[in-house]
Amino acid sequence: MKIDLERLEKSMDELGRVGATERGGLTRLALTDEDRRGRDLLVHWMREAGLRVTVDQMGNIFGERAGTAALPPVMMGSHADSVPTGGKYDGQLGVLCGLEAIRSLNDHKVRTRHPVTLVVFTNEEGARFQPAMIASGVMAGKIALEDAYNARDKDGLRLVDELERIGYLGSEPCVPRPLRAYLELHIEQGPFLEEEGLSVGVVEGIVAIAWSRLTIHGVQDHAGPTPMRIRHDALVAAAEVVTGVRRIARDIGGDLVTTVGNLTVHPNIVNAIPGKVTLSIDIRDPKSETLDRARPMLDALVREACEREGVRYELEHYWRMPYTPFAPEVVAAVERAAEASGGAWRRIRSGAGHDAQYMAAIAPAGMIFVPSHDGRSHCEEEFTAIADIEAGANTLFLAMLDLAGKA
Ligand SMILES: [Zn+2]
Repeated sequence: MKIDLERLEKSMDELGRVGATERGGLTRLALTDEDRRGRDLLVHWMREAGLRVTVDQMGNIFGERAGTAALPPVMMGSHADSVPTGGKYDGQLGVLCGLEAIRSLNDHKVRTRHPVTLVVFTNEEGARFQPAMIASGVMAGKIALEDAYNARDKDGLRLVDELERIGYLGSEPCVPRPLRAYLELHIEQGPFLEEEGLSVGVVEGIVAIAWSRLTIHGVQDHAGPTPMRIRHDALVAAAEVVTGVRRIARDIGGDLVTTVGNLTVHPNIVNAIPGKVTLSIDIRDPKSETLDRARPMLDALVREACEREGVRYELEHYWRMPYTPFAPEVVAAVERAAEASGGAWRRIRSGAGHDAQYMAAIAPAGMIFVPSHDGRSHCEEEFTAIADIEAGANTLFLAMLDLAGKA
C-alpha cells in the first residue's frame, strides 16, 4: 500500500499559496489572517476526509478517524505556522503527509484498531509568540495555560486574544491525552541526509540544549577624547566571548555545536564606547554530559574576557532541555516502515526542537526526517525533492498502520 503522491503534491501547492512570498517562500506567522486561512483549508480537508474535527484551548486542531476498538489513537502531525520569509516545507509538510496517510487509509478502505488522529499544533516556531512549541508544551503540562495565553507579540497583542480573533479558541481541554503513539514527519533542516544520498532519517531523539544569557557592563564614554588605556569596552569583551564560544565547540569536538545568535549593544552609535552588551549563548549536543563539560569552559571564558577588559558581568544559565530519546518501539516501527517504503535511510538525531519533543513526555513518540536541500531551512530556498517526500510520506503511512494495527 502506498500514498497518492499526486494528491499530496496538489495539497502542498494549494496550502503553499496561503501566505506565499514572491520568491517562492512562505510568511504565515501564528494566529495571523494567513494562519487562519491555512487552518480553514486544513479543517475543510479534514472534514472532507471524514474526520471528526475538534479544537482545544490552545487552538490545536485535531481530526480523528475512528478505530474499531475503544483504544487511544495514533496521532500524526506537525505545525502550520512559519517564520517570516520562511519555506513551504517546515511544519506544513508533516501536517500534509499525515493528512495524506489518512486519505490513503480511506482509499484502501482500511480500518484500524486504534483511531488515527491528525494534529496541527499552534505557534511551533516561536517567531511571533515565545516560547517556541508553546501549544505542545501546554498539552504536555510543561507550560501553564495562563502563561501561554499571556504571551505577547512585538505589538503587545496577547496570544489568547489572537486565538479568539481568528476563531480558533477551542473548548477542548489542552491537557495530556492517552495516545498509542505520536509520529511527526519533518524536514531535517541539516545537511546529512542529502550529503549521504539518503531519502529518510529515522530519528532516534532530539539533542540536549542549554541557553545562557550574558550581560556585560562596561563604561560608556566618548569615542574621541577617551584614550585607549582607560577604556572599559563592553563590546570588546563580548567579541572575545563570541569567538571563544566557537572555540569551545572546536576544543570538545564531536557533535557539539555552539552559537551566539543575539547581540544587543548599548548605546549602539558610532561615536560612543559601548557601555552595555547583552548576548545569547546556545549550546547543543546529543549527550547531556557534554553540556556539563562545556559549562565551566563558558564560565572561565567569560570571566577571563571580562577581567582583561575590566568590566562587570552577569552570566545566567537560564534554560536547559536534556536529550530527548524517542520510544524504542516507535523508532523500530519507523525503521521497518522506512525499509518497506524502499527509500535509502539511516538513523539520525534532531538538532532542532520540535513538537515531538514535548509529545515524547506524554506518549511513545518518534519522528521521520526527509532531506533539506543544502541543509537549509527557515528561508525561502527551503526545498525537498519530491522523490524523498514520497519515501518519507510512505514511511509515515506504514509506521502509522503498524502502530494503529489493521482491524
Ligand atoms: Zn518545524
